[in-house]
Amino acid sequence: MESKISTYEDLIHQKIIERGSQGISQQELAKSVGLSTRELSTIVKRLIEKKLIIKKSIKENGKSIVKLFAIQVFNEPKILIELRNISDIPCFSCKFLYKCNNGAHVNPNSCSKLSEWILSIIR
Ligand code: SF4
Repeated sequence: MESKISTYEDLIHQKIIERGSQGISQQELAKSVGLSTRELSTIVKRLIEKKLIIKKSIKENGKSIVKLFAIQVFNEPKILIELRNISDIPCFSCKFLYKCNNGAHVNPNSCSKLSEWILSIIR
């Protein structure tokens, strides 16, 4: 039974991912992959432990139903910055610091000194 479970793990995870925000019930999933609910429960438990899926109770047609949802992993772009010398931040020595504000005439969005400093520390 162990090898059967391992074989089906990826397939079941993929089926849950494919259902997206709609989710899928365990009964429906068991039918679609041809496993018993007992076998499927073991696999679902493993996928939950691996933090690949979650079980959520939702309302459908006025009835509560438990469905499985894939946990989405977003690969956010990484920007590494180095803050070795915080005193280099131009705002700390800027004569406009107390006038500078979003929406004001002097603002961070259009400040070339701040932009240049940010660009200089991005790796
Ligand atoms: S964003 Fe520019 S203008 Fe505003 S305080 Fe910083 S350095 Fe000065």
